[in-house]
Amino acid sequence: MTELKAIDLTRIPAAVRLIVSRLRQQGWETCLVGGCVRDLQLGINPTDWDLATAAMPWQVSQTFPQLEQLEQGLKHGTLGLVLDKQVYEVTTFRREGDYRDHRHPDQVLFTTDINSDLARRDFTMNAMAWWEEGGLRDPFGGQADLRQGLLRCVGQPERRFQEDALRMMRALRFMAVRGFSLQADTARALQEHRSELTLVAAERLRAELDRLLTGDYLLPVLLDWKDTLAVVLPEIRPLFGLKQPLPWHIYDAWVHSARAAAEIAPQLRLRLAALCHDLGKGETASFKDGNIHFYGHAEVSRRLGDELLLRLKYPNELRQTVTHLVARHDVEIPLKATAVRRRLQEFGQAGLRDLLELKRADIMAQNPELWPRRLAYLRQLDSLVQDELNRGSCFSLKDLAVNGRDLMALGLSGPAVGQGLQALLDRVVDGNLPNERQILLRAAQNLLR
Ligand code: ATP
Ligand code: MG
Repeated sequence: MTELKAIDLTRIPAAVRLIVSRLRQQGWETCLVGGCVRDLQLGINPTDWDLATAAMPWQVSQTFPQLEQLEQGLKHGTLGLVLDKQVYEVTTFRREGDYRDHRHPDQVLFTTDINSDLARRDFTMNAMAWWEEGGLRDPFGGQADLRQGLLRCVGQPERRFQEDALRMMRALRFMAVRGFSLQADTARALQEHRSELTLVAAERLRAELDRLLTGDYLLPVLLDWKDTLAVVLPEIRPLFGLKQPLPWHIYDAWVHSARAAAEIAPQLRLRLAALCHDLGKGETASFKDGNIHFYGHAEVSRRLGDELLLRLKYPNELRQTVTHLVARHDVEIPLKATAVRRRLQEFGQAGLRDLLELKRADIMAQNPELWPRRLAYLRQLDSLVQDELNRGSCFSLKDLAVNGRDLMALGLSGPAVGQGLQALLDRVVDGNLPNERQILLRAAQNLLR
């Protein structure tokens, strides 16, 4: 049971109060709605401010002629007002039209009735409105649910999830980020309608998934709602219940992956890498001498992870970062300076830190009996990396004491320049050549012959 707080005016930007009071002076009912009203009652600073009004967008526009205005959202009734370099969105009260495709209301219908606007919102705790003089408007028992941390659909859950399947993903996101739980009827409807998540556009799903994955309460969502997540991420399904060998493992492949994802630092690229690192275990599982093996699983994980990230339209750069980590998560790095430099060459400084963090999370999701030995190894590895960085070791082309122009001056041209530089770098990283200009130039001349 959380005690709710009286709304603290000092948390509300002056710009927000100004917009609301100006519109109200003109006679239009105007208030804060949605996430900010929820968060203010929890004593949390809202991430954004949703303002709702009975005024039509053109009336809002005319009320603030002196402000810069953003019109992208106009067809949904949203006008952006720029104040103190911040954008504040003001949306005309809307009521629900018909949904035909589980995604988009067929039409946007404006209304001057705030209760109709609140009725179209997803969960009761997100369906409260507030303004300074009027106080709270809470027609669906949002406060009571918020106190209990309960996500309850406004109205009939089946219907609400059918109208817009994304709401199911939002429910999981609020659980993972806020630690809320699902009210029983809402939970049942979600189980029943989860397959409709396939109808939601990748971009909308991804926006919620990203927040879900970086949430502080990720683990129970990954474990308890795995069948729902598998609608969006079918690649995880073969891991459910897949046994893994003792003494390393005490969890099945999915529980292990989920634990690794919840353990790793809450950055999206790392969470995705942990989530995907063992995807290939389903395809590669084989039995020998009564034991299960997953030979070559990292490469299959890379391929499956790549497919998953492509389908959800992740940016190429993120996809490459993640899949490289996945492909190499099992690479053995001996506790030797040369080996460390090679891995610095392969991953770069930030990339190698990511790899070590992935290895740490992977270990923490395995048998605790092995933690001391394996974490000690990681600490030693980490300090070797630090040594190399402190020493200013050369591990990338930009650190190399010669560059492309030098090799061209020696008569190399075309792709040979890049190949020559790479060959020199390999030798420096391996410790076969010092990173000294004259010596490297001489070595390059030898390469030419
Ligand atoms: P956050 O703190 O993450 O911003 P939020 O609840 O404000 O959480 P938003 O995505 O900003 O989430 O949405 C603002 C409000 O719009 C919600 O509080 C909710 O009232 C309503 N809303 C958003 N998406 C939907 C949806 N798919 N169906 C119904 N109502 C929605
Ligand atoms: Mg919001």
